[in-house]
Formats: sequence, structure tokens, C-alpha cells
Amino acid sequence: MTKLSTGVRGRAVDGPRCRWCRRVLPEQSGAGRKRVFCSQACRQWDWVARQRARELKISEDELVIARAVIDSLYDDLYVLACAVDDTEREMKAGKPTVRSMTEALEWIMEAARPLRDRTLTSHDE
Ligand SMILES: [Zn+2]
Repeated sequence: MTKLSTGVRGRAVDGPRCRWCRRVLPEQSGAGRKRVFCSQACRQWDWVARQRARELKISEDELVIARAVIDSLYDDLYVLACAVDDTEREMKAGKPTVRSMTEALEWIMEAARPLRDRTLTSHDE
């Protein structure tokens, strides 16, 4: 079994990942086929993507994705970047207080949460 390295607070940050959503797969116990997807939904999305790749005659490593999905991802990344920039500025500008750091942490958490929960599948499919 692959030993997972861990990030802050002992959470696994690498090791086997879901082929579709890239989340770390739960540790597998016992023999049997190696798990490739974290869920049936991910298996399904991967299958659909491969079918479309075949139809469009593109490689299985390429993905056609709706612009709205990418736009929404970039929007979330932009909000996170703003939160990081604001917090860096706050930390450089004199003495951070517990209150200012708590506010900064809340702002970063608020900006990061949509990315934690995000998938790249559109909701209308
Ligand atoms: Zn997955």
C-alpha cells in the first residue's frame, strides 16, 4: 500500500487520487482491483468524457468543458486570490491583532470553501 504523505493536521495530500475529481482515494484494504474513482458519479463522468473525446476525435487526455464551468472556477479562484492578497497586506501592515487575524481567517475560509466543494461538472447535465 502506498504511504500517503500528509499536510497540515495530518490530512493526506497525495497518494492515489480519483481519476476524475483528483480527490485522494480512501485507503484500500485487502486485495482486489485497484480503486480508480472515489464515487460512482466520478466513474460516470469519466466515462462520459471518454465517450465525448471519441466522438470529437480528441485524445482521452483532452477535455471539452463548458465555458460557464471554467468561468465559475476562475471567479472562485479570483475571490480566493483577493482574500490571500488582503491577508498578506494585513499581515505586513503593522501588528496583526487576534481580531484582525480572525477576520482574515474568516475571509479566507469563505473564499476557499466554494473551491473545496467544487466539481467540474455542470449542474444541468
Ligand atoms: Zn472523484
